[in-house]
Amino acid sequence: MIDLSFRPEDITLPVGHFLSGKVVSGGKDIAVTSPGNGSLLAYVPEAGPELVHEAAQTAARVQRESGWATCAPRERARVLRHWADLVEQHSMELARLETVCSTRPITQTVGWDIPFLAEGIRFFSEYCDKIGGDVAATSSSLLGMTIYEPYGVTGAIAPWNFPLVMASWKVVPSLAAGNGTVLKPSEMTPFSAVRLAELAVEAGMPAGLFNVVQGTGLATGEAICCHPDIGKLSFTGSTRTGIAVMKAAAESGPKPVTLELGGKSPQLVFNDISSVDEVADRIFRAFTGNAGQVCVTGSRLIVHRGVAEPLIAALVARCGQVAAFAPWAAAASYSPIISEPQAQRILNLVENSVKAGAQSLAPCLRMNSEEGGIFLSPGILLVTDVKSPVWQEEVFGPVLAVQTFEDDDEAFALAEHPVYGLAAGVHTASMSRAMRAIRTLKAGTVWVNRYGRSSDFVIPTGGFGGSGIGKDLGRQAFEANLRLKSVLMAVE
Ligand code: NAD
Repeated sequence: MIDLSFRPEDITLPVGHFLSGKVVSGGKDIAVTSPGNGSLLAYVPEAGPELVHEAAQTAARVQRESGWATCAPRERARVLRHWADLVEQHSMELARLETVCSTRPITQTVGWDIPFLAEGIRFFSEYCDKIGGDVAATSSSLLGMTIYEPYGVTGAIAPWNFPLVMASWKVVPSLAAGNGTVLKPSEMTPFSAVRLAELAVEAGMPAGLFNVVQGTGLATGEAICCHPDIGKLSFTGSTRTGIAVMKAAAESGPKPVTLELGGKSPQLVFNDISSVDEVADRIFRAFTGNAGQVCVTGSRLIVHRGVAEPLIAALVARCGQVAAFAPWAAAASYSPIISEPQAQRILNLVENSVKAGAQSLAPCLRMNSEEGGIFLSPGILLVTDVKSPVWQEEVFGPVLAVQTFEDDDEAFALAEHPVYGLAAGVHTASMSRAMRAIRTLKAGTVWVNRYGRSSDFVIPTGGFGGSGIGKDLGRQAFEANLRLKSVLMAVE
């Protein structure tokens, strides 16, 4: 087996923005630290409105003048495919840049994030010449058509939890559709996106089409949202920020938005499951993957009383088996928490829930790792009141809230959340029960007898209600980066 471990001090970080095909450094505004050991990695400059303006204007000019949108679409597809090949060739380098400042263990960035990113680029490349318009039924003296065209420049704002994969879900369909784009990664995970953009230029993408600006939400994110030359926004992050993004898009446009926001996803377990152990594995992975820092974390377990006892016992046993290693260690599989304030927020939420009556079945506590770092053990809380904070709020940490039920209607009622509707899991041997759940649950995605996305990029992902608007992945994500123009020609 290849040893994937590395030392953070041995890697060269691309520190800066990526503008007109070059890394632009200067400015030491934001300290980037590693959640794996708390060390200071670099100071990154912050783009204010002037730099965002330059990035947007550059992307607009290059998009207009380079022929990116007007070339044969297969030519664009060829560049994208080459980009995907380069991503794979630089897989180790990208994985290290991702792992060093994020919560993603090196085994997973090498084994999943980077291959998934490369294949995602290939997936969207395939749409370049597959979407056309219609010819309308008009009188023979007219030719009526609808044609799709890119917006020009799109803005993309990404979170820190899967920095490259999330950024690529915004940026790649936009570029494939013929747009230029300005991406802001999270200020906590700023490095890998710069290298990704560099590889795009190496693959043949015109320099300046895809620009990366670094900075915080208030200084840089807002400037992107409000920029008049940016015609469409794609945002992934919290619901609170998503609302701010939508307001800014309304006031500065209005311009369309794709919003992938938070969740509080339920997992329903019925008493006809064939294996408690298998379901326990699924539920455990669904709330501890990336230490719960996943939008679709299955953070609410709704379990039939007939199987509650053995299932909870199996989950509690698994909680005691995780070990904390820095993300760059070969043995790492469990993630740290991204920052100290976030760890404290999780612990406070658990404490407040216990004070409000929740029963702790497995404690969420700080864990030690050899190199330091911020780790919390998986926690399980039994809840009887739907108003409990741990039942209501997105924890974004490794904490599972549990309620039990007696009949199916009670389970469906418990699954409802007043704000979120991102995903849901249903674990049952009954096809008719599964179908009823699929039709009843208010969630953008329902998984049956599994939990989590597959590598089928064709399945769109996105939430209902407070979990967002629009879709990432799938044909829909590509189409969202095009606008429809109607044409009527007199032909006689
Ligand atoms: P966040 O909302 O704090 O930040 C997300 C991004 O928005 C960051 O780049 C941040 O700098 C930027 N930002 C902050 N304020 C802004 C503003 N006023 N204007 C413009 N940009 C601004 O979220 P986070 O903590 O980085 O990520 C975690 C959240 O993301 C969770 O709620 C999670 O559920 C959600 N998420 C959703 C999905 C999905 O597909 N639905 C995927 C991943 C994460």
